[in-house]
Amino acid sequence: MLEFLYTPGRYNLNFNICAILMDILILFFFLSRKRARDYRTSLFVWLMVLLIISAAAQNANALIRNGLWDASNPVRTLVTVIAHYFHNSLSFLLTLYLLEILENFRNVRRRDFCFIAIPQMALSVFELIPPLRSLIYYYDAAGVYHHGPAYNVVYYGIIIAYLIIGTCILLCDWNYFAQRDLRYVIYVTAGFVLSMMVSWINPYLRVTLFLQSLCMLGVYVNIENDRETFEEGTSLMSRNALMRETKILFEGTDYTSYIISVRIRKNDLYEVMMGEDITSGLIRTINSWMSQLSADRVHVYHLSKLTFAVMMFNSTEEKAQAMAEMILNRFNREWEYKDTPAVYSAQVLIGSVPYDISRSEQMLVFADRGFDANLPTDRVLYADEVMKADARRAVVEVAVNRALVKNTFEVFYQPILDTSTGRIHSCEALVRMKDKGLGYVSPEEFIKIAEQAGMVGKIGEIVFEKVAKFISEKKPQDLGIEFIEVNLSTIQCMDTDLPDRFAEILKHYGVSTKQINLEITESAVISSESTMDKVLNRLLQMGFSFSLDDFGTGSSNYSYIMKYPFSIIKVDRSVLWNSFRNHDNEVLFNNMIELIHGLRKEAVVEGVETENQRNRLIKAGVRYLQGYFYSKPVPEEAFLDYVRRFNGASL
Ligand code: C2E
Ligand code: MG
Ligand code: MG
Repeated sequence: MLEFLYTPGRYNLNFNICAILMDILILFFFLSRKRARDYRTSLFVWLMVLLIISAAAQNANALIRNGLWDASNPVRTLVTVIAHYFHNSLSFLLTLYLLEILENFRNVRRRDFCFIAIPQMALSVFELIPPLRSLIYYYDAAGVYHHGPAYNVVYYGIIIAYLIIGTCILLCDWNYFAQRDLRYVIYVTAGFVLSMMVSWINPYLRVTLFLQSLCMLGVYVNIENDRETFEEGTSLMSRNALMRETKILFEGTDYTSYIISVRIRKNDLYEVMMGEDITSGLIRTINSWMSQLSADRVHVYHLSKLTFAVMMFNSTEEKAQAMAEMILNRFNREWEYKDTPAVYSAQVLIGSVPYDISRSEQMLVFADRGFDANLPTDRVLYADEVMKADARRAVVEVAVNRALVKNTFEVFYQPILDTSTGRIHSCEALVRMKDKGLGYVSPEEFIKIAEQAGMVGKIGEIVFEKVAKFISEKKPQDLGIEFIEVNLSTIQCMDTDLPDRFAEILKHYGVSTKQINLEITESAVISSESTMDKVLNRLLQMGFSFSLDDFGTGSSNYSYIMKYPFSIIKVDRSVLWNSFRNHDNEVLFNNMIELIHGLRKEAVVEGVETENQRNRLIKAGVRYLQGYFYSKPVPEEAFLDYVRRFNGASL
């Protein structure tokens, strides 16, 4: 009945031919996609090669035994040795490979390796030493093949030895493996055992290698193909790969790995100057330099155009440090594309997994972040020093988002006194954010974060609208408040739609541009001066006046005063406080005030906290004062109460 499968006494070659074709296809598909250059990839390739050689040698063997190839005795022996040795070596390679899947980047431990190698060594001794080989099989003088007395003991013994070793390792480390991988490992082992049993039941069927190839197809589709993905176009691994591999590290490993985050500074100006072709060429140069760092147990991921991560699995701090230093040193030198050199500065950070980074979210915060202007570039940075700040920033960013969604931003007002009349004549609007978990967060902290997260525009509009509404209720004017100062982030000044939106809000509340004064700070992070000029000129045309905020600090200086027609210069509190420290600073402060007045601008001094400071400022001829000495920033009603009392009393 089974004649279509085989003719009794003759070996069926068809299954092996199919097996060879299938193995070649699997190998072709496997290699046509870029893979990690690691131990596991090599093991898979070797397994497939071994299957192909075994099937080919088995067919050659079958040809001889079917009487279709009249080979000489030494050739017969050679073909049989290849067929038997290679096929039986599969157990060894398969055990290494399956354990490698479970061990995840650890490389089968030396202790295990010794056990695993023993049966293979025994096999080699029997197969390769002729007198011993004749105990397994031999050809008689007539060229007829015979099993030797030790045939079953050696071959089945080896398979059983691998099953026992594999099971022992599995049982020892059971809880430590990922369940999904365990399942596949068990399926594949069962498939291989089944395939051997078929050959035991009917050796003429020759279906074993075909079934084993089917098992490898399953491994390829379910395990290998799903493993890691390389980005199109570069030889770097993707963000998904990092997340998947990180998960593996958190799920069950008892070793330390190191992640090195490489964040390159974006240089817009340079990109505009050099053009797209050169800059993308330079980036490609960096990509290919980064990709050559990958090695066994070292994976390089490309997380965004200018952010990379290097994971060193099962490594040491010294090795990670050396790698990080090497990367940082490379970024201290020039990159070159088409004879165009360029320097890209980068931040290089080291974190250990699972010590510094023990959850996937932390990995994202640590590795998947771009260049951070708050961090230095001149040394390798360590996760623990950066993570706290990063985590805080992440938490604050979430809080800002929540405040935007729930519309819980408030605006407080801080009075500004006109010393010539002794009355409060204006005030500064200052945004306040109270978070359920974090309490009050200072705008000094969250505005910067909102700027980086692209949320400052919305906050600015909320503040502007609340101020317009406050003015529209007429109470401040009735109490003698001439205008309210609103802070503008430089990021807002890059938004060409801003003037129109402000105009709409003013129209809606029936408020004039004369009632609002805009405070801006000179900032180093202006991405396009011409855009900023355009926006500020539109605002000027609409009738707004400007104050230059934080004058005298690093970010606001003399040359900037001339750039835009500021009507008010707000001297930073640090300048005032320093002027009380020594004589030189006092001279500097007085000159600063004189200069502002000489340019026919008003000076507002911030941070007046004591009577002594107030008296000295009045003596120096400063007309406008702002500070805790008068009032802290307070909510609308409290502010109105204060002005009512203050202006009433001073009348
Ligand atoms: P700024 O514009 O220079 O505001 C003055 C800051 O100094 C305010 O801090 C104010 O509370 C504080 N201050 C005033 N007088 C004194 C004093 O006598 N002693 C001390 N120690 N501090 C005093 P605040 O409200 O924390 O705001 C900090 C910064 O956050 C502001 O500096 C401003 O740059 C920014 N900011 C505040 N509100 C907004 C806003 O609505 N939009 C934008 N873009 N930035 C804002
Ligand atoms: Mg201000
Ligand atoms: Mg200021």
